Amino acid sequence: MSDIIQLLPDSIANQIAAGEVIQRPASVVKELLENAIDAQSKNISVIIKDSGKLLVQVIDDGVGMSETDARMSFERHATSKIKAAEDLFYIKTMGFRGEALASIAAVAQVELKTRQRQDEIGVLIQIEGSQVKKHEPEACPEGTSIAVKNLFYNIPARRNFLKSNPVEMKHIVDEFQRVALAHPEIGFSLYQNDLEVYNLKPGKLSHRIVGIFGKNYQKQLTPCDEETDLLTIKGYLGKPEFAKKTRGEQFFFVNNRFIKSNYLNHAIKVGYEGLIPEDTYPFYVLFIEMDPKHIDVNVHPTKTEVKFDDERTVYGLIRAATKQALGMHNISPSLDFERDTNVQLKMNNYQLLNKDFNTEEDYQNEKKYLRFENIPKEKGSTNWQDLFEGLKDDSVFSENFNKEENSVTFQSAANELSNSEITRTTPSAFQIHQIYIATQIKSGLMLIDQQAAHERIRYERYINALSNQSSASQQSLFPETITLNPADFELVNDLATEIRALGFIFEVFGQNSIVIRGMPADITGTNGKEVFEGLIEQYKFNKSELSLEKRDNMARAMAKQSCIKSGDILSEDEMKSLIDQLFGCENPNYSPNGQLTFFILDLGRIASFFKK
Ligand code: ADP
Ligand code: MG
Repeated sequence: MSDIIQLLPDSIANQIAAGEVIQRPASVVKELLENAIDAQSKNISVIIKDSGKLLVQVIDDGVGMSETDARMSFERHATSKIKAAEDLFYIKTMGFRGEALASIAAVAQVELKTRQRQDEIGVLIQIEGSQVKKHEPEACPEGTSIAVKNLFYNIPARRNFLKSNPVEMKHIVDEFQRVALAHPEIGFSLYQNDLEVYNLKPGKLSHRIVGIFGKNYQKQLTPCDEETDLLTIKGYLGKPEFAKKTRGEQFFFVNNRFIKSNYLNHAIKVGYEGLIPEDTYPFYVLFIEMDPKHIDVNVHPTKTEVKFDDERTVYGLIRAATKQALGMHNISPSLDFERDTNVQLKMNNYQLLNKDFNTEEDYQNEKKYLRFENIPKEKGSTNWQDLFEGLKDDSVFSENFNKEENSVTFQSAANELSNSEITRTTPSAFQIHQIYIATQIKSGLMLIDQQAAHERIRYERYINALSNQSSASQQSLFPETITLNPADFELVNDLATEIRALGFIFEVFGQNSIVIRGMPADITGTNGKEVFEGLIEQYKFNKSELSLEKRDNMARAMAKQSCIKSGDILSEDEMKSLIDQLFGCENPNYSPNGQLTFFILDLGRIASFFKK
């Protein structure tokens, strides 16, 4: 029998390797930027077209390549950076496997121009699908330019797999920011479709942070410097009062490599304990330097995870450094401890409440008694009132009750009501632990989850607003400017029609900024910026977790942002209004994400508790 084993042609071997190293346009950006840094560049430009699907080009003023090296650079395992296998973290250069350019050239159309200082003329190489198409002398500036066109042009399945432009651009900006933060001594610029997104001058880390995230950050940076036997920590923490609802702006670098670590994030979070609310995220850019021998060597170069041999000590040191930095610089944010403890209490109560039904038997009983037959499934503005039929006038349903949600302001209205308004002899609806609303109905007692119920109400309302393209807005007295990262900015542009349909009035205001001039009329008394940022964040979260249609996602995100929360104090009128609106919904039984909004404990069930 003849032999059947053959070596794969280079072009195929390279494509296979590319599958690992090059996942999307952002991977190309990362590899090219790292090469430019390794080439001792002082200024690096990144040019993106069509979120990198059409073009990723990186131009540097580094050492350049000789003609032979230029050709060699596209061979697999061709590298000038190491001669033997060594630990990733011992290596000072960013790349070392000699795989990137070969991989990129296997899956795109690449044009390289490069010249070394001492050479009079440079070289041009065009290569696509690993085939050299052109190789000739070229008059070009000192340094290197690599243009990567039509990524995955020869692998349609991978090309189709790329995400929408805003998503791919967000990945690119993420990589760009990480590299730019790790090298403040180098100038970087980024262009997308001929628009300048960033132009960062060389300078100190603090300047780089402000250059990337905006002037507001100038005031909020707290230096963090700690030196121990095991490691040194350097960088900046955001002041607690600037913590955001957005998780994005948290950066860890270990020996100047960006890493992701939930474990270390947690250490920082604990360092901020008591200074920021639970659901917010502080800003930080921290650089950890340590002897590479304490870092797990089994780390894949394209992955961003890291393992330390003494994780607990690293955790402890980071937590301590955070506390120290926040304390030392005498930060006294406007603390709201009362609110914090309430949140804590609320959780405990919530757990207690749930515990009551914790045995399987209890649970089954409970299920038996959830009687939805009473509740009309259709939009029941007439029938649901039967629930309350025969009850006194003081009960939830009363004729002159206004069904327009706008007529009741939820935020803190209860606190403004006078005592006489709150105190009634026989309240028809009352709150239980500020989580549930209890009310008497014909068949017994109804319990409503205030948050789930209001989320349902708001959701249906926003769905309507989005399909009618109309919503009431209220002009803001003080227009607020929001600076977004470029990817979010693009997303906001993409969603502009929907955002306006919800009732926001805004316009673009300079690079990556918008100014909000009006808010949906039903959002009163809250910080517009916070709601807007929360909306975008929730939208992105929904998008990554659930595959929702644009409008549905928007309505859900906005409902979640604007609804009454567990813990909010409600006046009786607000409770009544809420119940009224809930049963005016198309689907009152569940919140948009499927949580039960209410259940009924009927008289039979209540009586059964008292029977011997
Ligand atoms: P690696 O970076 O792992 O060595 P690459 O495939 O990314 O592998 O690059 C191969 C080689 O090409 C590098 O080792 C370097 O010698 C050369 N090279 C790549 N990009 C540049 C650049 N921008 N300037 C100078 N030399 C470069
Ligand atoms: Mg490289």
